[in-house]
Amino acid sequence: MAIKYVPESFRIKVVEPLRILSREEREIKIREAKYNLFNLRSEDCYIDLLTDSGTNAMSTEQWAGIMRGDESYAGASSYFKLIDAVKDIFGYDYVQPVHQGRAAEKVLFPLLISKGKYAISNMFFDTTRAHVELAGGRCIDCVVKDAKNPSKRAPFKGNMDVGKMEKIISEKGKENIAIVVMTITNNSAGGQPVSMKNMREVSAVCNKYGIPLIIDAARYAENAYFVKRDEEEYKNRAIGDIVKEMFSYADMFTMSAKKDAIVNMGGIIGVKDGDSPIILKIKANCISYEGFYTYGGLSGRDMEALAIGLYEGLDEDYLKYRIGQMEYLASKLDDAGIAYQAPVGGHGVFIDARAMYPQIPYFEFPAQVLAVELYKEAGIRTCEIGSYMLGNDPDTGEQLQAEFEFTRLAIPRRVYTQAHLDFIVDALIAIKERAHEIKHGYRITWEPPILRHFQASLEPVQE
Ligand SMILES: *Cc1c(COP(=O)(O)O)cnc(C)c1O
Repeated sequence: MAIKYVPESFRIKVVEPLRILSREEREIKIREAKYNLFNLRSEDCYIDLLTDSGTNAMSTEQWAGIMRGDESYAGASSYFKLIDAVKDIFGYDYVQPVHQGRAAEKVLFPLLISKGKYAISNMFFDTTRAHVELAGGRCIDCVVKDAKNPSKRAPFKGNMDVGKMEKIISEKGKENIAIVVMTITNNSAGGQPVSMKNMREVSAVCNKYGIPLIIDAARYAENAYFVKRDEEEYKNRAIGDIVKEMFSYADMFTMSAKKDAIVNMGGIIGVKDGDSPIILKIKANCISYEGFYTYGGLSGRDMEALAIGLYEGLDEDYLKYRIGQMEYLASKLDDAGIAYQAPVGGHGVFIDARAMYPQIPYFEFPAQVLAVELYKEAGIRTCEIGSYMLGNDPDTGEQLQAEFEFTRLAIPRRVYTQAHLDFIVDALIAIKERAHEIKHGYRITWEPPILRHFQASLEPVQE
């Protein structure tokens, strides 16, 4: 039975009209887009679940902040407002604004990683992986086994497999491990959370071997909500306290503020130790790539809205509604017998496309098939998180097989209503009924060398 929808912790003041194209028009649009949903125009999508990144609706306070933004080149008051917010929430001494998450990676990673070194993570997000590789490093994912079984309901499926991580460190030699990255929540594993216990254990191993621990912090608030909900000793702790403790275990963080900080653009690098020699290097890189270190590629108004959003993301009523949307959607999928990464994670529902299309091999991208079907069926735009996104082995050029073939329904924050969610479920049910009729997936006709899923062209594989 479907669970109850948690009512919104806000009301709507400004609306944005949507239109839905006819099925014939949608089939033309997706063909013209070379079956890559990133090539579609947003006006041709009825419900846009491509990403929860930067697609958030800002609050009245944030929009007021936009007017208050101080656009001075150096030392703007909006910069200091952001610094104060980050120090207060995360307890880190040095705060570097940047224009988005990958900019944080681009500025920081070359300072930590050199050619031939390894970076270990519970799971690397795609841009994070790309920046490790661009710095000459190699990525090793070390997520717990449960994450690889989408139908197994276990808490904290985003955790690091600490035993495996230690084994890799001793095999490769601790001097060859440049960094450990904890992605919270674990985006690529389906927005699955990381427990406080796991973070503590990873931190202890990093301390033992002297390896810097970095948090990939895009979903700091959603992760804290899961810790409170599912980790016994945190039941009565405030979300803010949980965040502060979580970050106390790491040395630095990179953050895409386009997720839990509920803004449309922004990113942050945080360094816990204000005396760390890396800070001067961060400033130098930032000045070269992003802009002077008191704005880092952001407008004053962006920093102002971000400073406010960092707090709004922590509001417990909001988080209950937000995670409630995922739980509501997931319970409807349970009723319909549609498999997804369970239990549902923080920022979206990750449909198990391998279960939907067992007849389609990984190299014909079953999750891309489902993404295209959702668009054709109902004008819903989603994103493949599977072998198509993973790409080719950087050494051999061969197509890699992903651990999962997910079609991600990413839910933008404070944007869609219960009726929208019901509409999405109806589309999935209709698609599932016809799933056995689809015999083949897609092949790539053109791809760039890195982060290919954003730009590649595809065509249907024929009999
Ligand atoms: C979105 C994201 C990034 C990259 O951030 P952008 O703002 O898109 O550049 C990095 N890591 C994780 C976990 C993310 O979700």
